[in-house]
Amino acid sequence: MGRPEPLDRAASSPAPLRQSLGRRLVLATLGFCLLFTVLAVGVRSWFAWGNAQYAMESELTLIDQVFRNTLSKAIWEMDSEALTDQLDSVSRAAPVGRVELQLPRTGREPEILTRSSGQNLATQRAPTLSRTLIYEPYPGAREVVGRLILEGSESLLWERLYHQLIDIVVTQLIQSLLLAGLIMWMFNQTVTVHVRVIARHLAQLSPASLGKRLRLERSARRQDELSLLEAGINKLQAKLSTYLERQRQDELDLAAHRDRLAELVQERTAELRAANARLEELSRSDPLTGLANRRQFDELKDVEFRRAQRLNQPLTVLMCDVDHFKRYNDTHGHAAGDRCLKVVAETLTSTFGRAGELVARLGGEEFVVLLPGSDQDSAMRAAEHVQQRLAERALSHGDSPVAPHVTLSIGLAAFDAETMDRFDLLLHRADEALYRAKAQGRNRVAD
Ligand code: GH3
Ligand code: MG
Ligand code: MG
Repeated sequence: MGRPEPLDRAASSPAPLRQSLGRRLVLATLGFCLLFTVLAVGVRSWFAWGNAQYAMESELTLIDQVFRNTLSKAIWEMDSEALTDQLDSVSRAAPVGRVELQLPRTGREPEILTRSSGQNLATQRAPTLSRTLIYEPYPGAREVVGRLILEGSESLLWERLYHQLIDIVVTQLIQSLLLAGLIMWMFNQTVTVHVRVIARHLAQLSPASLGKRLRLERSARRQDELSLLEAGINKLQAKLSTYLERQRQDELDLAAHRDRLAELVQERTAELRAANARLEELSRSDPLTGLANRRQFDELKDVEFRRAQRLNQPLTVLMCDVDHFKRYNDTHGHAAGDRCLKVVAETLTSTFGRAGELVARLGGEEFVVLLPGSDQDSAMRAAEHVQQRLAERALSHGDSPVAPHVTLSIGLAAFDAETMDRFDLLLHRADEALYRAKAQGRNRVAD
């Protein structure tokens, strides 16, 4: 067993992050906060402008209340010095940008006295207060002595707004940055850290480590999307593990079946070989007597013939034929005839059992014996010995004019290197000798 391989080699270590989720979230939050800041600054500035105007209007009202009576009195008493002092004092008040005093004159245009703070702008967005000056020389007598117009200082208004704007922008920016930081920190703590753990876990996963469960380091009480992901991954691992185990088991079963199949094939092959060998054996032997048949004889005769030629060794052939076998069948029946043929075969094989000697049934009641290494004399003795042994078996022949028992006529031929260049010539000689044995009265050996 080698080292457990990760499921995917390429994913064995998480790829370096090109863009973190937290960073993207922070950038998006910052962008949104900046947009929100711009809008909030706009709205708050609008309100601040209104408030500043209202405050300036209140200040002008206060100034009017402070100076109204003294101004009215100075106009009534025509105290131009006091009037100038009063006007100068009013114009020196910070909220006042310009002060105008209209003094009515009978039959003429009103006299207008003005004072400016010197910083007044032409746009005139500051509030303006216009009041009628009334003097009571004695209770119940109300005299209109003039009109006081107080114009607020626009530059002061802008100055105040500017300071407020700075406040607003700074507080909004701080709020936005704090919010973005908080979101990033929270996202990192609640999501990014765990997602990285999950990625590391998955990258290290291998068939051998499928049993190692994924555990996120956080409170078990939390049941959110990450809990679902954690449970899902663990469930998937369990299923994968079961599947792999089943697959392993299936492979083992398959291997066992394959081995069993191979054994069976081997057994069947061995049986087939044996059957083939048996068939081959059967095809080369005579079914009744178990002797070699003509086919096997034809295969071996040439081998022995060539060996005799090559080594210049003697080789003799005996052609044996049961005498009056037709009559035997007719007298004793075909089944008895078969049994008789078996006895003749046994007699032949028990006589010729030396290595190289071959007894074959050529067909019917005809047998041939191949005797390598035997010369004419020894073959003659052996042939006579066979006849003698068959006589000893005393198989009764009820219709033989030759003997009361079954007899054999044998034709003998010996290999002669000078006159024979083919085995068939030798066999032909043996056949001729057999013919002679028959003609001379049967139950004998002729050469
Ligand atoms: P001969 O002495 O001249 O050889 O006379 P024969 O009767 O033996 O010779 P023939 O060729 O006329 O007859 C051979 C008989 O052998 C005929 C046939 O029915 C019988 N025969 C051949 N094969 C078998 C066999 O396998 N079993 C049995 N029972 N008889 C067979
Ligand atoms: Mg015959
Ligand atoms: Mg015969």
